[in-house]
Amino acid sequence: MRIVSLAGGIGGARFLRGLKAAAPGSDITVIGNTGDDITLFGLRVCPDLDTVMYTLGGGIDEEQGWGRSGESHVVKEELAAYGVEPQWFGLGDRDFATHIVRSQMLAAGYPLSQVTEALCDRWQPGVRLLPMSDDRTETHVVISDENGRRAVHFQEWWVRLRASLPAEQIGLVGAEDATPAPGVLEAIGEADLVILPPSNPVVSIGTILQIPGIRAALEDKTVVGVSPIIGGAPVRGMADACLTAIGVETSAQAVLELYGSRLIDGWLVAEEDKGVALDGVTVEARPLLMDSPEATRDIAAAALSLAHTLHA
Ligand code: GDP
Ligand code: CA
Repeated sequence: MRIVSLAGGIGGARFLRGLKAAAPGSDITVIGNTGDDITLFGLRVCPDLDTVMYTLGGGIDEEQGWGRSGESHVVKEELAAYGVEPQWFGLGDRDFATHIVRSQMLAAGYPLSQVTEALCDRWQPGVRLLPMSDDRTETHVVISDENGRRAVHFQEWWVRLRASLPAEQIGLVGAEDATPAPGVLEAIGEADLVILPPSNPVVSIGTILQIPGIRAALEDKTVVGVSPIIGGAPVRGMADACLTAIGVETSAQAVLELYGSRLIDGWLVAEEDKGVALDGVTVEARPLLMDSPEATRDIAAAALSLAHTLHA
């Protein structure tokens, strides 16, 4: 069976681990969000691609959910000793190596998709991991502070400010001119099923859907999504701040409406969100907390089984 899944960082990566367990032997292509990517200290950092790669490849810091296991922070301390900014973004020594390899390959002219493939050669994530685009796009957030109204990189709002200032606008800079990375539209075209994990609907899934051609390709497929919102709140993180910024309520119902029935065929919600409904969408309620590998596998199995039913 050929499965395509979109993915942000932590929520996407955890779900994908369950999907691999629920569909052994399947051919899984993951289209990863690159809107969070940022250049730091001259190095290109792709947090969501790396979270998926490390999580599926066994190199993730399990407790934190991002970054490398067994990490140390000597380089970060040395940079801080020089007074070099930014100091608010945590990069560990092991992680630095990934960004050095990536930046070296990008500088040599390799597109991000090929760089990602080369990095995955080491990690063997057991899925084909594709960036949504080889073109550089970045999520920017408009905020107002003592310096006035300005746009900052998503990471500055999310990591430095912890989304404490309201986002007046969130946008993917460069989206209109971007094209899907090689293999993305082909993988969607050949897929039997498409799964949307419970990733952030605005800055993870939402950005991927903004790359011209991707949403239209997905609309032709059987797509099942898993709600990242349970009982009116995100399970972890600050997805509510992103939804508020685009004028969408933080609920499983509103996220389903945001995606729309042209895209979504089946929608999994938590048991407390049983009442969610939308014309043309089959909604099922079940436990959606990814609090153990078994529970996560069961969520993925439920998504697959719903997709099979709808596809038949
Ligand atoms: P990020 O890029 O690291 O922020 O990760 P993602 O965008 O992939 O996932 C973040 C989303 O995962 C958040 O909106 C959370 O609500 C959602 N999430 C995290 N853990 C769980 C869980 O156990 N169950 C469900 N349903 N959603 C979760
Ligand atoms: Ca992310």
